Amino acid sequence: MRYEAPSSVEDAVATLAGAPGAHVLAGGTDLLVRLRSEMIEPDLIVDIKRIKGMREIAPEAGGWRIGAAVSGAEIGEHEGLRADWPGVVEAAGLIGSTQVQGRATLAGNLCNASPAADSVPAMVAAGAVARIVGPEGTRDLAVIDVPKGPGKTALARGEFIASILLPAKAPRSGDAYLRFIPRTEMDIAVVGCGVSLSLDEEGRVTAARVALGAVGPKVILVDAAAEAIMGRALDEAALSDLAAACSKAATPIDDKRGTVAFRRHVAGVLARRAAVIAGARAKGEQA
Ligand SMILES: Cc1cc2nc3c(=O)[nH]c(=O)nc-3n(C[C@H](O)[C@H](O)[C@H](O)COP(=O)(O)OP(=O)(O)OC[C@H]3O[C@@H](n4cnc5c(N)ncnc54)[C@H](O)[C@@H]3O)c2cc1C
Repeated sequence: MRYEAPSSVEDAVATLAGAPGAHVLAGGTDLLVRLRSEMIEPDLIVDIKRIKGMREIAPEAGGWRIGAAVSGAEIGEHEGLRADWPGVVEAAGLIGSTQVQGRATLAGNLCNASPAADSVPAMVAAGAVARIVGPEGTRDLAVIDVPKGPGKTALARGEFIASILLPAKAPRSGDAYLRFIPRTEMDIAVVGCGVSLSLDEEGRVTAARVALGAVGPKVILVDAAAEAIMGRALDEAALSDLAAACSKAATPIDDKRGTVAFRRHVAGVLARRAAVIAGARAKGEQA
């Protein structure tokens, strides 16, 4: 097996494009597990961490551009991200242990394409956009469109994600991410839910995005849940409608970690709780 660590995007793209079956290496917290357990035996690993800009978090258009090699720990320490997108930060902070977070990246979490990936519902709720580089140049793709199903992405041969843009945070808006796991930590989400919403001065919802993880082959953006709370205060009736829309939209599997009925129920419960936290954050309250 060959290991390359190019220093430019152009070299990385050329190296990847010239080697079918090559794998991108970011933090390696998924890739190395698969390598060691011999689930994959690639001829080439292309480490993107030495490429300029990959480890930077930079302001852009009122939002934040996060390089593809920025770790969860670096995200958790970034004051601007914590202030603007606390839901995305808390999702990244749930990934694995302290050791895992020292390496794991948002782009790696996204490209691993696990339906239960924690940061993905939070990024989808935030309206995040992935910047993809490849042999045909650069293209931007909404994060929700990157995973195609378990283990599958929309990336073509030679392409990789260079960065992820979290857009400008609207006034009076907030986000939150919650997951349910049977243990207290270090487990895979049975259900995950990201909510991002904006309020008017009276506390009525003016915009909302609600995303569910682990209850379908890929993350689900629940438009019906957003519509259920639009124009309404986040009172009991609105939250019940939001929860019902999420339970209905969930298409989970039945396994030893949760039945279909349980996962549907939990999807509604988490959506309701995440919306309350996002609403409090939109009002500038501590949550
Ligand atoms: C002990 C442990 C606990 C974990 N707990 C959680 C958890 O609680 N929640 C959770 O969601 N995940 C968890 N994970 C999985 C993993 O840590 C995350 O998915 C992590 O975010 C992957 O990021 P990475 O940078 O390490 O990716 P890597 O392992 O480097 O890559 C993952 C995959 O994405 C591809 N890839 C990486 N970066 C790019 C890129 N920029 N462009 C294109 N393709 C790319 C790689 O080729 C590979 O296929 C855990 C893993 C371990 C080992």
